[in-house]
Amino acid sequence: MYTFNPGPSQVYPELRGYLQDAFDEGWLSAPHRGERFTGLMRQTVADLKTKLNIPQDYTVFFLSSATECWEVLAQSLTPNKSFHLYSGAFGEKWFEYAKALRPNSTGQQFGIDELPEVYTLPLPDDSVDLVCITQNETSNATQLRDGFILNLYNRLGNALLAVDATSSLGGIQMKYIKADIWYGSVQKCFGMPAGLGIMVLSPRAVARFRQINERSHYNSLVAQYEKMLNFQTTHTPNVLGIYLLSRVLTDREPIKAVHQHLLDRATKLYDYFDQATQLTPLVTNPETRSTTVIGLQGPPALIDEVKRRAKEQGLLLGNGYGNWKSNSLRIANFPAIPDAAYEQLVQFFAREFA
Ligand SMILES: *Cc1c(COP(=O)(O)O)cnc(C)c1O
Repeated sequence: MYTFNPGPSQVYPELRGYLQDAFDEGWLSAPHRGERFTGLMRQTVADLKTKLNIPQDYTVFFLSSATECWEVLAQSLTPNKSFHLYSGAFGEKWFEYAKALRPNSTGQQFGIDELPEVYTLPLPDDSVDLVCITQNETSNATQLRDGFILNLYNRLGNALLAVDATSSLGGIQMKYIKADIWYGSVQKCFGMPAGLGIMVLSPRAVARFRQINERSHYNSLVAQYEKMLNFQTTHTPNVLGIYLLSRVLTDREPIKAVHQHLLDRATKLYDYFDQATQLTPLVTNPETRSTTVIGLQGPPALIDEVKRRAKEQGLLLGNGYGNWKSNSLRIANFPAIPDAAYEQLVQFFAREFA
């Protein structure tokens, strides 16, 4: 059985052994103020930076989810308002969470085949604290490329650039220096169970939240920062999640290799679905297509039929999401899913839906 659901997604088979080790090594009752845990934290942050090519002067926090990151960014880095540029359901949800806390926040939507033109955006005036984008929009299988993020970053002025990279962090090599905040959660490209969020912050972002000094919440960024100086957290953390992450990272190739592998696989899949099947790629513009989530579209009855027959053969496809729920399906292209799974998937389409 393979699952292509883009989150929660297929986990590494090695997780079984890591879980056993976590139990046997006593991690499940390890005190989170003790040296053993803080040593694990220090090592995990170091490994994350090495394996993902995160600059050494960036700060890493562990949270519980990407959703928590949405809220924390509004609390601790948005005294006035944020500006949200989005094409799909996750970017829109982030905008909704931000508006609930900072009602003056504004947003602009763009189409799935569209590359927003940075020069025509309503550029942030000085009262905008945060410009928010979703690097990989999991709901509609689109992606914003490095070049776009760079152009945007160069025109920010005083605002910080925050990037939701939930379904690409750990799969795609990011240009971390071209944004201030990057975050994601581990049930996508890290091949792990849900319950751990990762936030990566530039020195500029750290200086900003320290200056704002918002302390009203247990997860306020200044509070997290002060604890993290000693590799601790404001609350009892997800020790198991952090342990599993450290094991996954140790066994992982560097991000450059992971990225290239996913890119090659995505190219093959798009080439195949562009030509040979009853379903076609949801996104027609090759420049806006996601590398890590492939969306296919078709009439709802056919979508249902494809998912049903695939499931009978042990291939779990991801449902459409939001506006695309009934007329699309999604295929995760995540590192933990082996090449053999995609070979089976393509054979399935060739046999039954060519
Ligand atoms: C999955 C996802 C989220 C939500 O992640 P949680 O860990 O469930 O909070 C947010 N943004 C994007 C782009 C996602 O793919």
